[in-house]
Amino acid sequence: MKNRRKLRHIRTVLLSLTTVGLFCLCVWLFYQGLFEQDGAAPLPVSEPSSRPTLEISSAEPPFSIASSNASQGGADASLGEPIPMASSAAPESALAVSESAAVSSDPAAVSSAPASAAPPAPASEAPAASSVSAAPASSAAPTTSLPEIPADDPYPDLYVARPEFIPHQDGDKVVYLTFDDGPSNLTIPLLDVLDKYGVKATFFVVGKTSEEDKEALRQTAERGHTLAVHSYTHEYKQIYASPRAFLDDFAREYALIKETTGVSPTIYRCAGGSVNSYNRDTARSIAEEMNRRGYIYYDWNVDSGDAVPGTTAEGIYQNVISQTSRYDKAIVLMHNSATKKDTLAQLPRIIEKLQAMGYRFAALDNTVAPINFRLP
Ligand SMILES: [Zn+2]
Repeated sequence: MKNRRKLRHIRTVLLSLTTVGLFCLCVWLFYQGLFEQDGAAPLPVSEPSSRPTLEISSAEPPFSIASSNASQGGADASLGEPIPMASSAAPESALAVSESAAVSSDPAAVSSAPASAAPPAPASEAPAASSVSAAPASSAAPTTSLPEIPADDPYPDLYVARPEFIPHQDGDKVVYLTFDDGPSNLTIPLLDVLDKYGVKATFFVVGKTSEEDKEALRQTAERGHTLAVHSYTHEYKQIYASPRAFLDDFAREYALIKETTGVSPTIYRCAGGSVNSYNRDTARSIAEEMNRRGYIYYDWNVDSGDAVPGTTAEGIYQNVISQTSRYDKAIVLMHNSATKKDTLAQLPRIIEKLQAMGYRFAALDNTVAPINFRLP
């Protein structure tokens, strides 16, 4: 009798222990699952569609995006000497280059983003522009999302609170026309074309200081377009020497825009694109420093080719239409320096065709997830 009771007791204890063990295992598995979703999982490549873009999700820092090669160089060289290509691709293959730059299925590259990257501020801290304008002034301009400013910071005013990116909706066909290297005598005629079609665009501008150029800057802002920093000097060797050199140049252009128009730019485009043969050693540190300050840079996935020697007016039109047709979200590289008459002349055709293809047009702002080339 005693033995049987003892056995039953042992069996009960064993059963209890097994139940508790199983319960603990379930709890552990549950939390494992959660951590895998929210925690240190590799950054996902944006949706694996047949037409992947360089678009990054709101969870990724702007400079982490990876795409294939850096051979877009040379497309943005209208102010200085053409940029030697960072890869072996020839300039005349710009169309193919843009495509390859925009298509990446290399998850390893995407997940190679530095862990130190600061995530964008939560939406609750930094509402999107539309909600900012509707909110009382006291609740706007979140300062909590700004990093701590070092005491010896040479530009303590060059920090901006960054809102969360507004995700691109499936089926929303949107084109962001961007014009580099202005202002020029072709800026106001360009603004007139955009006004005629009710199209808003983005101007990455340089250090031009004549009264005519300043008036063009003012009108660009007044007519509702985005003014953004390109470069003051556009001198590759100078600006890509170090993060500090880049910042010095950025600050100069930023001040010119702000003093002339009252606009404080929040986005920029690197002269020659974010990856070129002048910044192999500094591209990442420059991007990280600018990202730390809250400024976002934009490359492109459509290259009009208007800075590529030998591109005809018809070629500009065909480049834009054929490349844009591959994307639901297209950032189009064009130029607005004084020599870009063909670009201006093709713009009405380009807008009409893209509208007929079902695209809408919008100006970039820092709620739009950027398209970026892969940093070295
Ligand atoms: Zn440029």
